[in-house]
This record gives sequence, structure tokens and C-alpha cells, in this order.
Amino acid sequence: MSTAAALCLAWLLCLLPAVASSRPALVLDDAAASLPLTPHLTHLHDPSGELGLDEATQLQRSGRFTPLHTTALGFRDGAYWFHASLLNRRADEPRWLLVQRYALSDHVDVHLRFSDGRVAHYASGDAHPFGARSVPYRHPNFWLELPPDTPVDLYIRVKSTSSMQVPFWLHTPVAFAESSRDAQFGIGIYYGMLLALLFYNLVLWLNLRDATYFWYLLHIGAFGLVLFTLNGLGFEYLWPHSPAFAQLAVPLFISLGQVGMQQFARVFLDLRKRWPAGDRAGAWLIAFFIALAIATFWLPISISTQLASAAVFLSTAWIAVAGTRVALQGYKPARLFVLAWAMLLLGIVMFAAIAFGMLPKTFVTEYGVQIGSALEMLLLSIAIGYRYSALRSDNERIVREAKMHLEHKVELRTTELRQALEQLGDAHARLRETSQRDALTGLHTRGHFRELYEGLLTRARTDGSPLTLLMIDVDHFKRINDDYGHLAGDECLRWTAHCIGQTLRPHAAVPARFGGEEFIVALPGLNAQRAVEVADEVLAKLRARPCPAHGQDVGITASIGVHEVDPEREPRLELALRHADDALYCAKHEGRDRVCVSTPSARPPSDRL
Ligand code: GH3
Ligand code: MG
Ligand code: MG
Repeated sequence: MSTAAALCLAWLLCLLPAVASSRPALVLDDAAASLPLTPHLTHLHDPSGELGLDEATQLQRSGRFTPLHTTALGFRDGAYWFHASLLNRRADEPRWLLVQRYALSDHVDVHLRFSDGRVAHYASGDAHPFGARSVPYRHPNFWLELPPDTPVDLYIRVKSTSSMQVPFWLHTPVAFAESSRDAQFGIGIYYGMLLALLFYNLVLWLNLRDATYFWYLLHIGAFGLVLFTLNGLGFEYLWPHSPAFAQLAVPLFISLGQVGMQQFARVFLDLRKRWPAGDRAGAWLIAFFIALAIATFWLPISISTQLASAAVFLSTAWIAVAGTRVALQGYKPARLFVLAWAMLLLGIVMFAAIAFGMLPKTFVTEYGVQIGSALEMLLLSIAIGYRYSALRSDNERIVREAKMHLEHKVELRTTELRQALEQLGDAHARLRETSQRDALTGLHTRGHFRELYEGLLTRARTDGSPLTLLMIDVDHFKRINDDYGHLAGDECLRWTAHCIGQTLRPHAAVPARFGGEEFIVALPGLNAQRAVEVADEVLAKLRARPCPAHGQDVGITASIGVHEVDPEREPRLELALRHADDALYCAKHEGRDRVCVSTPSARPPSDRL
């Protein structure tokens, strides 16, 4: 818009009836040291942003400016003009500092119109390098030379793509030093705490490698930078020569902070498991904020700032919903999470409400975000620790249960194994029994007899007691088989074994079936002579008691060879058996049904065995 057009607009505005008049002059007397300008300001919105000082002065003088009742005017296109009449009654204070307690205005032009027609102009705002400020301070500020007792017209033009906030204050130099000292102290505490939390959680993340800590770090890091920028400290300390970056820092860091916040919530609340739909929604929000962070480099700042401010509402509210839902499911760490979020939400609501001009700027509303976020970050830090310990005790419980389960299983398997071993032992014992006992007669088998004989031989050798062998063979057994059949033959073998056993029982004898119809007996402690007597007893019993087989009495006789073992000369069973067998052969030879004693000297052992 050209100057002519602006003048036209000013003229047109003059035609309209005045709705407000100028306010009385602000008198700076002895009582004044530090005071807000708002109650003394009138203002005019210039949608085109093209009005110059002269047009603005004309409009103000014609009563087009209206009284200002708030410091926050929201997001509006164009520029705002403000006016106040000042009268400095303090001869001792010719210099006053005008401060705009809001860091993000792009252009702030201050004009002093003196009664003699002189005009002084000062420019500041974050579109100008930081070094151009009157006082190197985080808020735009201007030294005003106010000659005593001289009325001065103060015109301020503010043009900004960020929210229009105009908390203007006037301070004497001393009063400014005092008020800025208090504010700096509060800010120092806040950022000190933030840095401590940042390092504390960084160390925890590096040690524990739990992703929650990383996202929490991103969240508080980016969030801290947002506030650092809003407080004007980013421009003062981090990018004082880059007004352009100062513009996009807020939407950029808001977006990054939200990425960290959303991902932190997803991981912390374990949304993938506890609320999959919510988890997906969180992922979409993250995608949106990443896109917005990239877009801030191209989008007009007013749009990206408003978009980011509005999205913060949605995003923070969404996390509160997700946290509440998971907390209601009974997930304990989520309770602290929700409480923390409520603090931040409150702070952000207050901040945004000021930005949109819905709440007056007071200490609590202005620093609501700082207070809320400090509480939120502290609580979240505690919540992460709580969650970590909850996870650890959960893991310990799982390990304990698994161990108990395993122990129970091992116990079960051990019992099964013990039972199987017992069964195996039984089977083994039965097998041993069958291998030791002859199935038909119930006497020892030949193999087992050999084992028992070894013991008897050792004993005879050590204590010098006699040991005698009887070799018993049933006479003409083939005939019995032929005459009465094999079953009757078996019966006769059983009968013979029974008679042998019965007769020998008092003599601690060890009888065995040697094979077929032959039996062998070891008689420990009996010499050949005593053994012959015992053998005769056996034969007498057989003779006296025919075998009752299949309804008939089958007469049985046997021949017996007797041999007294010489433990020194016959260390092996075979040698002794040979002599016993020879004696048996002798008994057969001499007519059967008799006992014959071995006479090694008379007859050398044959090779029959
Ligand atoms: P000797 O008086 O000379 O001893 O004549 P023997 O017939 O008793 O002798 P031999 O060696 O000629 O015959 C033994 C018979 O015993 C042959 C065999 O069929 C029979 N026999 C061997 N074992 C068994 C068995 O377990 N049961 C039955 N029923 N017969 C058997
Ligand atoms: Mg025989
Ligand atoms: Mg025989």
C-alpha cells in the first residue's frame, strides 16, 4: 500500500464516529518506578500494516484509538499501533526503560513525539539482531529520554507473525535492575532443574539402555528449547545473529518436542500391547509432527506457529486420554504418568489461552507452562523410575515362577525316574532270580551254582573245613520218558529234586540242576565219608518214595558220585567236577542205584567233562 492510500484510509477512518477518546496522560511522579503501560494505552489495529507515524498520529488525535484492556490480542494480520501520553515529573529520572515483556514480536517501533515537533525513533524485536537492543536483555527494550515536566506522545507500532502480546512496562533504571534480577533468578532455577533432569536421565539412559529415557530426553530437551525461545533466551544466548531462526524456532521445537512426547507415551504406556488402536493413532500424530517440523522451514511463521500451538492441545489431550485409559486398565505406572500430564496440560492450556487472548497475563498464567512442565518433568522422572522397578519386579516374579515351575517339573521327573528305576530293579531282580533258579525243579542253575561254589571253596581254603561234591544222575531216565511220557518224566525230575532238597536241608547243602536228569550238590563242612552217608540217605529216600506221576507210582533210583574237594590242587570247579563225574561213572558202572567215592590215585581224571 502506498503512502497516499494509507492517508486515504486514515481520512476515511476520521469520518467514522469516534468510539473512544484518548486516555489522560500518564504522570511519572515520585511514586512511579516500575509500572505497566496497559491501563494508559489506546490502540488501533492497522490490517494493512502500512500506516506510518504521521497517519497514526492523525488517527490518534482524531480519537480513532481505543483503550487497551488486555495485553494479549491473539493472532491478527497487519500491525497494531499503541499510544500513551507521558509526563515525567521526576527531575532525577530523565531516562526510562520501556520493556515489552514478550520476546517473540518481530518488529517493535517506538516513536517519541515531543511537543516541539521533534520525533525520536527506536526499533527492536527479534527481526533485528540481538546486539541492537538498548539493554542486552531477553525482552525488547528501549531507553526513553523523557525531559522533566514536558509532555511526550509515545507511539508504539508492533508487527509480528507470532501472537500479538503487548505487556509494555516502564521502569526507572534501578527498578528495572531489581525486577529483571528476580525474573532471571526464577528462570535460572527452572532451567537449572531442567538441565539437571536432562543429565540425570541421560546418564540413566546410557546405563540402562531403556528407550523410554531417550524419548523422555527428546521431549524435555525440545520442550526446554521451546520455553527458552519463548522467554527470549534462545535469541539472547543461542542465535543472537539469526533473527530468521528466532522466528521458526518455536513451531520447530514444539513439533520435535511433540515427537518425543508421543513416542515416550507409546513406549512408557506400552500402548502396542495395552491399546493397539491408540498406539497407531500415536504413530500418526508423530508422522504429523515430523511433517510439521520439516514444513516450518517453508510455511509462513504465523501459520506454522498457530498450527503447532493448536496441535499441542490435541496432542497433549490425546496423551492424557491414552494415559487415563491404560491407568484404568490397572497399569500402576500410568497413574503417575496421568498426574504428570495433567500438570503439563494445565500449563499449556494457560499458555495457549494467553496466546489467543482468552486469559489475562498474570504470574501464574504467564509462567504456567514453566510451573506445569517443571512438575510434569519431575513426576515423569519419578514415574520412569517407578516403571523401571515395576518391570524389574515383574521380571523377577516371572523368573521366580519359571524356576518354581521348573523345580516342580524336575521333582516330577525325578519321581518318575525313581519309579522307573525301582521297576527296573524289580525286573532285574526277577531276571536274576530266573537266571539263578531252574524253572522246572526250582533248584539253583548250573551258572549260579558256580558262583556259590566259589564262595564255598574260598571258605574251605581259609578255614580248612572240608567241602564235598555229589554228582547225582537218575538211572535209566530215558526209559521213564519212554514208558510214561515226557510230562511224567518232568514230574519225576521235580520229585527227585524235591527229595534231594528235603534230605540235604539239615546239612546247609547247595543243590543245583546240572543239566538233563543230572544234579550236583556242594556239601560244605562234610568230608567224603559223611557225604557218602548223606548220599545214601538220598538214595534211600528215592527208593522208598516212588514218584506219583499221572496217577501212577514211578519208581526212581539214581547213582551218586562223591568227591571231596582238595582246594589247593583243584582251584577250579571243572577239576573237582571231573573227579565227581568219574565217581558217578564208577557208580553206573558198578550197577547203578549206589554211591561211589572218587579215588584220584586209583583212577586218573578222564576227559569226559
Ligand atoms: P543212565 O542210567 O546211563 O543214566 O541212562 P539214562 O537213560 O538215564 O541216560 P541218557 O543220557 O541216555 O538219557 C537221559 C535222558 O534224559 C535223555 C533225555 O531225553 C532225557 N531228558 C533230559 N532232560 C530232560 C527233561 O528236562 N525232561 C524230560 N522229561 N526228559 C529229559
Ligand atoms: Mg545222564
Ligand atoms: Mg541217567
